[in-house]
Amino acid sequence: MTHHIVILGAGYAGLATATGIVRRLRKGEVIVTMVNDSPFFVERVRMHQRTVGQERAERSLASLLTHTGIRVVIGRASHVDLVRREVGVRIDGGERTLPYDTLVYALGSMSSCSAVPGAAEHALALSNWSNATKIRDRVLEVAGSNADIVVVGNGATGIEVAAELAESQPNLRVTLIGQRPLGGWLSKRAARRLHRVCERLGVVVRDDVIVTEVRHDSLLLDGGETLAADAAIWALGFSVSPIAREAGIDVDADGRILVDGTLRSTSHPDIYAVGDAGAAQGSDNRPLRMACATAIPMGKYAATAIAARLRGEIPRPFRFRYVFQCLSLGRRDGVIQFLHPDDHPTGFVLVGRPAALYKEAIVRGAALSARGYGRPLGRLGLLRVRRD
Ligand SMILES: Cc1cc2nc3c(=O)[nH]c(=O)nc-3n(C[C@H](O)[C@H](O)[C@H](O)COP(=O)(O)OP(=O)(O)OC[C@H]3O[C@@H](n4cnc5c(N)ncnc54)[C@H](O)[C@@H]3O)c2cc1C
Repeated sequence: MTHHIVILGAGYAGLATATGIVRRLRKGEVIVTMVNDSPFFVERVRMHQRTVGQERAERSLASLLTHTGIRVVIGRASHVDLVRREVGVRIDGGERTLPYDTLVYALGSMSSCSAVPGAAEHALALSNWSNATKIRDRVLEVAGSNADIVVVGNGATGIEVAAELAESQPNLRVTLIGQRPLGGWLSKRAARRLHRVCERLGVVVRDDVIVTEVRHDSLLLDGGETLAADAAIWALGFSVSPIAREAGIDVDADGRILVDGTLRSTSHPDIYAVGDAGAAQGSDNRPLRMACATAIPMGKYAATAIAARLRGEIPRPFRFRYVFQCLSLGRRDGVIQFLHPDDHPTGFVLVGRPAALYKEAIVRGAALSARGYGRPLGRLGLLRVRRD
C-alpha cells in the first residue's frame, strides 16, 4: 500500500527531508505532500540582507520541485489530529484535511516580541520575509535623516542585521543592544574582531542592557534611560509554532518537539520533527541550536530514517558535530569561528573579506543542499555551522 508522508514547512529542513525521501524511495512506494504557507522556498539566512533591499532570496517551490513527484499544498497548517492522523490546512479561507501515515514537522521558528510591553505594536520583528521587507521600507523612509535605528538582540542575527544596515546606510545611527557581552560565546579573537568591525561601521555597541518598554519613537531601558529609536528592530526571542503543543505532542519548555535518537517524536513515533521545531540533541546531549546548519542535516537524516523504516531496516541514530559558525558583517567582512564538535570555539578564526566570501559560498551551498544537491559541501562538513 502507498505510504503517505506529509511534510509541514518547506524551509531548509522540510525541503531537505522531501528531496531526500524522493531520492531514496521509488515513486509508488510513497506519496510526499509538502504544506507551506507561501509558494516560495525562502532563504531565511539572507533575511538581514533583505532589510537593506538586497536580492529576493526566494524561489518558487513549484519550479524547484518539478519532476520530483512531490505535491505542494500552499496553505497554513492549523492543527494536527493525532487520533485521525490528519493535518488541518487553511487555504483561502477554507480548511482542508490531509491524512498522513508519517508526518514530518518542520515549521521552523520566528522572532517574537510579545513579552515586552509595546514591542508587538512598535518594534519590527525580523520574523519572516514580509517583515524583513517592512524593515527595509522603514529604513529607506528614514535613511536620509541621520535616524536612530536600534537593533535589539546582540546574538548572531542582531549582529548581522546591525552590520548590514550600518554598511549600506552610513547616515543611519545604528545601536546594537543586548544583555550579554557582544560575541561572548566566541573565542576572544573573534569577539575582538566583532567589536573592531562595529567600530569601523559606526555601530554603537551596548551590552548588559534590558529593554522594559518599546514606544513609537524610543525604548525604555531597565535603569530608566530612554533610547531614541526611529526604528526598533527585534532580533531575539526566537519561538516555535504552538501547533505541536496544542495537539498534545510532547514538547520542551520552548515548544520544540522532543525527539528520540532518530528524530521521531518521543510521544508519537509516526511524527518526525526537524529543523528549529525539533529538539534534537548534539554530541554533548544538549539541544542543537536553531540553525540552517543543523536543519539541513536533520532533514537529510529524517529522510534516511523514514526510508530505512519503510524497508523494514533499523536506522542508525542521528549524529551531529559542529564545525564552525559564520557571521557576515556587511557584504565585505565577516567572522568564521571554527568550533569543537560540541559547539565550543577553537582558537581558529577566519576574518575580513575571505570570511565574507566563505560565508556567501556556504549560504549558496545550503540552498543547494536543501534542494537535494550539495553532497560535496556536506561531505567536507562545510554545512555544519552553529547559530544562536
Ligand atoms: C537573519 C537571519 C540570519 C540567519 N543566518 C544563519 C546562518 O548564517 N547560519 C545558520 O545556520 N542559520 C542562520 N539563521 C537561522 C536559520 O535561518 C534557521 O535556523 C533555519 O531557517 C531553520 O530552518 P527550518 O527549516 O527549521 O525553518 P524555516 O527555514 O524557517 O522554514 C519553515 C517553513 O515553514 C513555513 N511555515 C511556518 N509556519 C507554517 C504554517 N503554520 N503552515 C505552513 N507553513 C508554515 C515557513 O513559511 C517556512 O517556509 C539565520 C536566521 C535569521 C533570521
